[in-house]
Amino acid sequence: MKRREQFLSYGSQWIDEEDIEAVIEILKSPFLTQGPKIEQFESAVADYVGAKFAVAFTNGTAALHGACHVAGIGQEDEVITTPITFAATSNAVLYCKGTPVFADIDPRTYNIDPHEIRKKITANTKAIMPVDFSGQPADLDEIMSIAEEYNLIVIEDGAHSLGAYYKGEKVGAQAHMTMFSFHPVKPITTAEGGIITTNSRDFYEKLKQFRSHGIEKTPYSIAQGDWYYEMTDLGYNYRMTDMQAALGLSQLMKLDDFLHKRRKIVQKYNEALFEIPGLILPMQLAETESGWHLYMIQLDHKIIRKPRKQIFEEMRALNIGVHVHYIPVYWHPYYQKMGYKKGACPIAENFYQQALTLPMFPKMTDRDVQDVIEALKNVIS
Ligand SMILES: *Cc1c(COP(=O)(O)O)cnc(C)c1O
Repeated sequence: MKRREQFLSYGSQWIDEEDIEAVIEILKSPFLTQGPKIEQFESAVADYVGAKFAVAFTNGTAALHGACHVAGIGQEDEVITTPITFAATSNAVLYCKGTPVFADIDPRTYNIDPHEIRKKITANTKAIMPVDFSGQPADLDEIMSIAEEYNLIVIEDGAHSLGAYYKGEKVGAQAHMTMFSFHPVKPITTAEGGIITTNSRDFYEKLKQFRSHGIEKTPYSIAQGDWYYEMTDLGYNYRMTDMQAALGLSQLMKLDDFLHKRRKIVQKYNEALFEIPGLILPMQLAETESGWHLYMIQLDHKIIRKPRKQIFEEMRALNIGVHVHYIPVYWHPYYQKMGYKKGACPIAENFYQQALTLPMFPKMTDRDVQDVIEALKNVIS
């Protein structure tokens, strides 16, 4: 089998001339940061997902940190989340001195399983952080009803799911707060960037304050004069720039087209791969429409004898950028040192051991998709 000329990454941005122009326009304007584009971008994202408010951050991780902070997570507090995610999800809990508690996944969707959430609830549980893994929304109704029952805050990690649907509505307004990431591999990009959407004015105001050093205009400061402000909380400088917000606005116009292109690629993968014995294809619940950030397969090793590592290496040798998402978070040495034990979430660990992510991004050509399919057929047979 012939090696591809160019390495095909598992994910990549799509930047066009309009995007470039949008950024250049800001570079020529008076405000490079803290200007008008930020609020325009925030309103556009809030409108797009159907939420009342949005607060943009330097990146998705900072946005998650903000959400955990304004949710009041601190020492003694436990936050239930999934091990099949990027470490940033539970790291945000650690930033606030809280304790992440990992609940196992649903083997069909690879998203956190609400039954497993219930098993992990204690008197110290403060919040739940579901992840819309690969772009398929988590079981939000069930998670929100658990949250209501136990008075918990739900912070949804929607890094993969901007534009995805849950029961006919876009994600971003069901949870108390939802984070979206704008890293280049994510649904739209601002290079680095992230946002929290929420329907709560209280969270909205606290997030804005947290993003900018914990500074606010209080009735007292207003009475002092226009120059006066008060720092009433310990915040950070987590502000997005106007260049990034302008890029984000321009990208948002193309999001639906990007999602359409991703779904077309999914169709091609599904049609070509479903007949290969031993491949488990990604499963979609009828009530969700994924944003298809990732397309992952599982290798059923009862049928496919070749180890995943060898398949991975042979695909890479053909210049096909397969990947694996994700190493269960608590397997990382940092978490192991904190006392988390391997074996805690067997379904997640089993999934990790047989998962393989195929390249998936809107700019992939038909040829690219065919290259992946042919390479996989070759490597597996
Ligand atoms: C990308 C990602 C993040 C972090 O977003 P950044 O913008 O890269 O900081 C968090 N959670 C998940 C699931 C992600 O994929």
